[in-house]
Amino acid sequence: MHWCDICKCWLNDTKAAKMNHERGAGHQSKLAFKLKEMGKKAENEIKQKEIQDIAMSKIDKAAKKAFEADRKAAEAAAGSWEWDAGSSYYYNSTHRWYYEPKSAWYYGGEPEAQWTQAPPIPSAALFGTAKHSGGPVPQGSTAVAPSGPADGGDGPIVRQTVQRVVTVKKHPLADVGGYKAPTSGRVGGSMGSGITLEAEAGAGGSAGAGEKRKREEGGKGGGKVKGEAVSKEEAEALARREAAKARVAARTAAGFGYV
Ligand SMILES: [Zn+2]
Repeated sequence: MHWCDICKCWLNDTKAAKMNHERGAGHQSKLAFKLKEMGKKAENEIKQKEIQDIAMSKIDKAAKKAFEADRKAAEAAAGSWEWDAGSSYYYNSTHRWYYEPKSAWYYGGEPEAQWTQAPPIPSAALFGTAKHSGGPVPQGSTAVAPSGPADGGDGPIVRQTVQRVVTVKKHPLADVGGYKAPTSGRVGGSMGSGITLEAEAGAGGSAGAGEKRKREEGGKGGGKVKGEAVSKEEAEALARREAAKARVAARTAAGFGYV
């Protein structure tokens, strides 16, 4: 059997049968329709591609134009460095600064002109980034060209990064230690004991650490710092805590055979 893909039907696999089928009106019209559809589809695809190409080229052109405009604006804002043979400096008339190519220093500024390596102009306007013309510096470079015989032969400028090692003096108490201890806050604060440095300083210096501790322990009996109101519940809680402490102390003493 032979499958006609156009009519979607089976027919006898003989030359006569196939020729008869292909000459038939049904097959012919279906074939014509299919060819037409295929042509339309191809045409559509071509059209779509053309439309896309036009759109892309339009976008491309617009982008290129915008880029060019941006570049021109940036260039105009940066100005350009023109060689001034009279002073042997480059001059940027947009920002009104001079540039000395041998030392790579700038001269200008208002109200008082001065020499600097970092003039207050946009980084795009710096020499080498902005365009320059004429003078000893070749285009597309920021350095002075190796000097020829006409230049007097003082050689090219070599820039070096110089590193300096600074020795820091040892702390006078480094051998004793403790000089890094805090000068404020509480010594031994985590244990809930010790002295408060600021309070100690405030006491006039005559009160020793022992006196200070005594005072604090004496205060503990009263429960709280003087002047602060103690509520009934708080007083009760404190009393309970003291009682519990006493019980623990008694038990411990008993454990050691003191009672
Ligand atoms: Zn057919």
